[in-house]
Amino acid sequence: MVVVGGGITALAAAYRATELAQERGIELDLKVVEARDRLGGTIATERVDGFLVEAGPDSFLSEKPWAFGLCRRLGLESQLVRTDDRFRKVFVWFRGRLHPLPDGFQLLAPTRLMPFATSSLFSWPGKLRMAMDLVVRRGAGDDESLGAFVRRRLGREALERVAQPLVAGIYTADPEDLSLAATMPRFLEVERRHRSIILGLRHALRTAPLPGTSGARWSLFVTFADGMDTLVRALAERLPDSSVVLNQRVASVERTGARWKIATVDGARWEADRLVFAGESHGTARLLRYVDPTLATLLGDIEYAGAATVSLGYRRTDVPHALDGFGFVVPRTEGKALLAATFSSVKYPGRAPEGHVLLRGFLGGALNAGALAEDDATLVARARAELRQALGVTAEPVLARLARWPASMPQYRVGHLARVETIERRAAALPGLALAGGAYRGVGIADCVRSGEAAAEAALAP
Ligand SMILES: Cc1cc2nc3c(=O)[nH]c(=O)nc-3n(C[C@H](O)[C@H](O)[C@H](O)COP(=O)(O)OP(=O)(O)OC[C@H]3O[C@@H](n4cnc5c(N)ncnc54)[C@H](O)[C@@H]3O)c2cc1C
Repeated sequence: MVVVGGGITALAAAYRATELAQERGIELDLKVVEARDRLGGTIATERVDGFLVEAGPDSFLSEKPWAFGLCRRLGLESQLVRTDDRFRKVFVWFRGRLHPLPDGFQLLAPTRLMPFATSSLFSWPGKLRMAMDLVVRRGAGDDESLGAFVRRRLGREALERVAQPLVAGIYTADPEDLSLAATMPRFLEVERRHRSIILGLRHALRTAPLPGTSGARWSLFVTFADGMDTLVRALAERLPDSSVVLNQRVASVERTGARWKIATVDGARWEADRLVFAGESHGTARLLRYVDPTLATLLGDIEYAGAATVSLGYRRTDVPHALDGFGFVVPRTEGKALLAATFSSVKYPGRAPEGHVLLRGFLGGALNAGALAEDDATLVARARAELRQALGVTAEPVLARLARWPASMPQYRVGHLARVETIERRAAALPGLALAGGAYRGVGIADCVRSGEAAAEAALAP
């Protein structure tokens, strides 16, 4: 079996394949072929001068069981750490000020009256329009954009000041293009069942309180005490000797009968009867263009956005703000380069040395691709200038790190699920081939683990 890619999807696929092979007594000849000089893909942890810097993802959702389940199987549960929920607050940077997102606000809509009614983030007409959700009729139930849905139910302020910036921090997407059915089907389901989003969310809270709000052991997001690459290292250690091949970019795949021939840019070659594509779908499209041009076109049509992170370490005394939250998001209407900023050392333990803090800015995305055209020094300077405006920090940072992730965030546009169904049908017609990763049915690490494991199960189906 050959797995193209060496990110978390590929590693989850490879590890699941070894588990299945062992269970079933199958002999598995495995190769995980990664273009970079390291495993992990967008997961990249750096330890420098006592800071623990996450260049890519800094956590994963514990609510979705797949990454968590994998950690358990790997014996990593004791190394997981939860968010410090004393500082659970998130701010919205609006008109030059950080406004706390009202308590009880659940991504799109309020669930508690008083914090919402007294919030400084919304105007009175805006609040009244949100309350209209209680009486607005149901939509047609078709796939629609997040923007259309929120405007229809809760109004423009809810979209511009909360939904757009919160969602940009997760999907780096334009809400006018983002498919609600592919990203947050829960809200469509709430509308279908309860009509009102506010009432439906309140009902859900009463019947199944959110993790982290009910004394549950784990918070909504978790990470590793020693950084996200703990998971990557643990998986790599458990793969068979010499199954990982680094610094080799797969350049072509060819099918001859039931076998696949795989070749890299540098001329390395393998043959396999199972092939898992676990890289970005735009790359998979190129590799499949002669095998199935229609499939390749469908894959190539899934757009990606780029992003960058700027991590800045400061002495605590140099940051005037109380940093009493997890960070802030920035509505597009503010015209800033930052999409969001995380107070990393407040959110998680062990991210900065004693007396210091680690802040991380998130830039780029579908709505602000131009920001990434700047050179590194300019991007860091812009992040610093905006943190100065938001938090009043004027001092030189003691640490500055920039990481760029070009074309790495898949965009689920309206109609995405229908496209993915067609892709899956066509891929299933190619024997021994499986597609996995964030491009299809969920962009986060938990979804990628699920997708990688499912690919291994499909590839090794008896
Ligand atoms: C800045 C940033 C922050 C994020 N934050 C979070 C977060 O906090 N929580 C969360 O759950 N998710 C987050 N995500 C998303 C998360 O990182 C991804 O869901 C996940 O890591 C994707 O894993 P993957 O293996 O599918 O893809 P990738 O990590 O992109 O790995 C794909 C790998 O395939 C390799 N590859 C591609 N083509 C070839 C080829 N032809 N030959 C050989 N190798 C190839 C690439 O070099 C790459 O290493 C974030 C993403 C970014 C960019």
